[in-house]
Amino acid sequence: MSLNNIASLTIPAIRDGLTKKEFSAVEVAHAAIGFAEKENPSTNAYLTFSPERALSQARRVDESIAKNEYVGVLAGVPVAIKDVIVTEGIRTTCGSRILENYIPPYDATTVIRLESEGALIIGKTNCDEFAMGSSNENSAYGPVRNPKALDRVPGGSSGGSAAVVAQGTAVVALGSDTGGSIRQPASFCGVVGVTPTYGRVSRYGLVAYASSLDHVGPFARTVADAATVLGVIAGRDDQDSTSAFAPVNDYHAAMKRPISGLKLGLPKEYFEGLGAETGDVVHSAVEQLEKLGCDVREVSLPHTKYALSCYYIIATAEASSNLARYDGVRYSARVDGDTLIDMYRNSRGAGFGTEVKRRIMLGTYVLSAGYYDAYYLKAQRVRNLIARDFTNAFQDVDALITPVSPFPAFKIGEKVDDPLAMYLSDVYTLTGDLAGVPCMSVPCGASPDGLPIGLQIFTKHFDEETMFRIAWNYEQATTG
Ligand code: GLN
Repeated sequence: MSLNNIASLTIPAIRDGLTKKEFSAVEVAHAAIGFAEKENPSTNAYLTFSPERALSQARRVDESIAKNEYVGVLAGVPVAIKDVIVTEGIRTTCGSRILENYIPPYDATTVIRLESEGALIIGKTNCDEFAMGSSNENSAYGPVRNPKALDRVPGGSSGGSAAVVAQGTAVVALGSDTGGSIRQPASFCGVVGVTPTYGRVSRYGLVAYASSLDHVGPFARTVADAATVLGVIAGRDDQDSTSAFAPVNDYHAAMKRPISGLKLGLPKEYFEGLGAETGDVVHSAVEQLEKLGCDVREVSLPHTKYALSCYYIIATAEASSNLARYDGVRYSARVDGDTLIDMYRNSRGAGFGTEVKRRIMLGTYVLSAGYYDAYYLKAQRVRNLIARDFTNAFQDVDALITPVSPFPAFKIGEKVDDPLAMYLSDVYTLTGDLAGVPCMSVPCGASPDGLPIGLQIFTKHFDEETMFRIAWNYEQATTG
């Protein structure tokens, strides 16, 4: 493997090249950053590059190799980080004007863990403002273009992270998922995207959108690479009291077990009304899983129809509370006014974009006295019912298989003026966040127009092994 093939590098290929001394980690860093800087104008996927940080880490990796020391499972691997995950000394904007010049004083736990295994952080990726959106068009820094079809969106909100992995300007990337923001862009860009169990990965240093729904997870071009990254970032972190003590098992060993005999459920609510463009591709993926020996049956998740409204009440309520900290006083941009209230109003008015303002207003409304019981409390109850649907289904099956999104990547501008149409992008993904179960998107083919389509796999809480096992066996069978 040479660095001429930078766009198709994988974690094992880099390890192999370093071991055989075909290239050094410093050479990988130079090649990756040079390539990413050259390609970025076509997609706008990176907001900030961090060459000094990548190069100093690469030098450490090369020194360790020279001394025959342990270098880590991600040694020399170029990684991109969604710009809602804080990086010490590297600007972190959350896709918002309000944090345009924010330089965090600390690293997120996930970033520390990646670097402790030798990863090279090469830059920060564009996203919808505060992770609110499904197309990346809500970024204050301009939309990202889908590298597979430049007139189309890459999905959102982690569209930049999906795009850089699809384009090959990073080997792997981190994203965040609150209602589908890892799986939907992974599906739109034709890469693997994983939303682990809630609590599996620390949220320390992830800028909060809706804390009870927020997850950090990886993007990669192969299932194996995604499993490697999850293995590195997963596990209890004392800095995040909601992170779980559950042991992190060896995903690589687990994923290579055959899937014959696994019971897979197709929730009928996810297929009703699904157009042929996506439906045909997903159905042939299911046939492939049957050929691999899985026992496929129809199941029902009866409360699915309430998921979208339930999600947009809970997510906006939590967002309105989390975003109250950007007041122009502590660490967001300040626009002065005659009174304190004017200063708040001016700072937030200038700093936040339309969608963020819409959500703060919605969330404040559903939490206000008189409406709390009717909206917020009701939504919490519905959330329990949705979670129970999953628990009940998992009594009979090992995993659930569904489409990721009702449609493939749409044109830039097509849905920006219609928030409800945009919210529908996540109708199949947000149930996973509401229930807190692990789920992922794995590429499963293309629409007649050649647009990537993803297959979604859900498993029981903390059963990432079965999820990777299905995805890996499917990938092996279909990509050879
Ligand atoms: N599109 C959904 C929203 O706008 C999900 C976003 C996310 O997962 N961060 O809230």
